Amino acid sequence: MLIAHRGIFHSVGQGLFHSASVRLRTSRCPPFEYVYDCGGYGRRGGQRLVDVAVGQYVHNLRGRGLNLIMLSHLHWDHMNGLYGLLRGLRGRAERVILPYLFPQERAMCFAPAIEDGAASLGSSDDEWYLEFLVNPSRFLLEYGAREVTFVRGSGEEPNEVAAEPEAPTRNNDYYGGGTWTRPSDLDETAVAAIRGSEEHFVGNEGAIATHVELRTTAANLGIPWWEFRFFHRKPNAQRFSAFTKRFEKVRGELPLRQLLRSKAKLDELRGAYACIFGEDNLNDTSLAVFSGSASSLQSIWYHLRAPWPRRKMPSIACPPYRRPTDAMDSTGVLLTGDLGVKGLWDSLARKFDIVPGSQRAEVAVVQIPHHGSKCNWHDDLARIGSRPVHVVSARLSGQHPHKEVLRSLRAAGRVPVQVNEKRGCTYIVYCHTTP
Ligand SMILES: [Zn+2]
Repeated sequence: MLIAHRGIFHSVGQGLFHSASVRLRTSRCPPFEYVYDCGGYGRRGGQRLVDVAVGQYVHNLRGRGLNLIMLSHLHWDHMNGLYGLLRGLRGRAERVILPYLFPQERAMCFAPAIEDGAASLGSSDDEWYLEFLVNPSRFLLEYGAREVTFVRGSGEEPNEVAAEPEAPTRNNDYYGGGTWTRPSDLDETAVAAIRGSEEHFVGNEGAIATHVELRTTAANLGIPWWEFRFFHRKPNAQRFSAFTKRFEKVRGELPLRQLLRSKAKLDELRGAYACIFGEDNLNDTSLAVFSGSASSLQSIWYHLRAPWPRRKMPSIACPPYRRPTDAMDSTGVLLTGDLGVKGLWDSLARKFDIVPGSQRAEVAVVQIPHHGSKCNWHDDLARIGSRPVHVVSARLSGQHPHKEVLRSLRAAGRVPVQVNEKRGCTYIVYCHTTP
């Protein structure tokens, strides 16, 4: 089988918008189209950049829908293009996967957006964002997503990994040539806590799972060929309950919608949140994704174009042609959102099997976490795979990417590609696999 995985890091300034299509070249199976994060803005908080990128992307889909939309987390710079994307797709979005955040955590997503000037209270531009934060599943279903799945990790300490279930037990469904496996749901107490804190939680509005895997299967071949693996860590339980107490006190009887409209209350909550969680912030609830071939590889090669769309090969460390390597059985793209990889590296690397030096997983593309912030970086990210392409999405003349991150990459012989408001980049990975 020859698989072609073609991805784009769009030119969106401060934020992240990554889209890709996976095509099985040797069968009539339709391509699998997916998006990971859909947000960005330019200097003055304007969101024109992401709107243009989304418009162009939807146009290029030529009426095809999306099989999967994934959101790493719910910050404005990662999802302000979502409304435009869903509207452009007109109901052709099969599935959305995003982390589950309690109302008190979602309120904390709205607060920084106001401060950045990206969203403003009462303006109609961001009314949808408020609707989304009040009830994400209802919003997504109303705007055309056919199924919504939330992930709430079961591990909360850095080295704690969610237990892998032994075998898929339920919810296998087939759609557009794909198989969806959702082996385990949250335990009863966690579900009760969610029911208790949501104003309109309805069980059918979005499944919530601790462990999710997605494998696409060529309907006519009956074999899995591409997979998505997810990593999510929930916040520390003690801190979370301390914050919940403060939240309830500040909130009183106010419905979430009203609370989000009160800058004073949000400021107070933000202070409390920073006090309780400190460095350990909402970015760490980012859902990281490893997407790669589901069967063993015979060979792989790839090439990268940046800047995009101008056809000019950059001088980057990655050769345009990759030689076949022995014992590789996966290749793919590591997407990290704004995850604090620094403190979570061990569990992340184990979960995705990307420990440096290990031949098992070949990583072709790495998204540098949190726009290249040094607080989120781990040196091993520069050493995984043999020579992956590292991509950082950050605005020009901002504080990102941090020079220590660049130094760490250079020390490992890697030269990152930066996408910003002036340029994006595309990559194509081809791999031959044995079914
Ligand atoms: Zn971000």
